[in-house]
Amino acid sequence: MEKTHMSEKILVLVRLRPPNQKEIASNEPTEDWECLNDTTILYRRNTFRQSSNFPSAYSFDRVYGGECSTRQVYENGTKDIALSVVKGINCSIFAYGQTSSGKTYTMSAITEFAVADIFNYIFQAIRLLQYIKFFFFLHEERAFSVKFSAIEIYNEAIRDLLSSDGTSLRLRDDPEKGTVVEKATEETLRDWNHLKDLLSVCEAQRKIGETSLNERSSRSHQIIRLTVESSAREFLDKENSTTLMASVNFIDLAGSERASQAMSAGARLKEGCHINRSLLTLGTVIRKLSKGRQGHINFRDSKLTRILQPCLGGNSRTAIICTLSPARSHVELTRNTLLFACCAK
Ligand code: ADP
Ligand code: MG
Repeated sequence: MEKTHMSEKILVLVRLRPPNQKEIASNEPTEDWECLNDTTILYRRNTFRQSSNFPSAYSFDRVYGGECSTRQVYENGTKDIALSVVKGINCSIFAYGQTSSGKTYTMSAITEFAVADIFNYIFQAIRLLQYIKFFFFLHEERAFSVKFSAIEIYNEAIRDLLSSDGTSLRLRDDPEKGTVVEKATEETLRDWNHLKDLLSVCEAQRKIGETSLNERSSRSHQIIRLTVESSAREFLDKENSTTLMASVNFIDLAGSERASQAMSAGARLKEGCHINRSLLTLGTVIRKLSKGRQGHINFRDSKLTRILQPCLGGNSRTAIICTLSPARSHVELTRNTLLFACCAK
């Protein structure tokens, strides 16, 4: 029997990105935040600290400063969570933070690292089984498949990022699988190059409708889902086959500024409200989960949380990477992200 992760806490990681070209060129101050050690990030500006009730030290499972690579962020905890999918455990890895804080930078590399490790695991398992079969004359075959799907939630409408037809997809409640996204394209991953091809299709699809740099991606949530299935068939006992199936989700959230920003009129207002809904509902769900996954949890209040419900509640594992901008002009949003991160612990 697999160990269940019913009571496992959400892993909360915080990543402070280095200053970017624009910040350097405009002499924007970027030294206000400092990673004190592996787990604590410090706000160093006394004036601000004294003028409001703003704690100066924040501690999490792990914090990463500007000098840390995405590989380091991946290896520390998220790898373990992502790989539990091959043991039949659903899992989710989120990137949460304001626009330009490094969500996409972090999440896209982590997705690639995780897929490489999942493939390695599978090939090792197959080799090991062949070896065992050869020496012990076992009649067991284990077949693995890895399916890839990618959707975007924009304005509470779900779009398939692997298809260009632009229609919005519907959610359906399946008695066995829970909430499923109807007609979402699923590709069986052949190899590493196939993954790269699919990721660039998603990226191109995500850009459609974007009127300025980062505009659409700052308002939409992207979910990349890998579903790993493995089945063993006993040749002597055809009825008795065992199947393990689970999904790992890589979620690049809309900019967290959308959770608090009051929107102006018209379409923007609507978009604002809907993004508020998914992000705010996620916030409530995560807060409840972090308090022990008990009592009523309002998964059904937004598309994002409905889709992720099977991978958030019960027997599942979750990591949240909160990304921070070092810029002084972003200090309020940075603080909001840290407060969210504190709630998730
Ligand atoms: P977001 O998706 O949160 O809007 P991006 O991932 O697009 O932010 O990052 C904004 C910019 O900062 C990009 O040019 C990206 O390459 C750069 N960047 C983000 N994080 C890092 C990092 N840790 N190291 C170096 N550059 C980074
Ligand atoms: Mg982005």
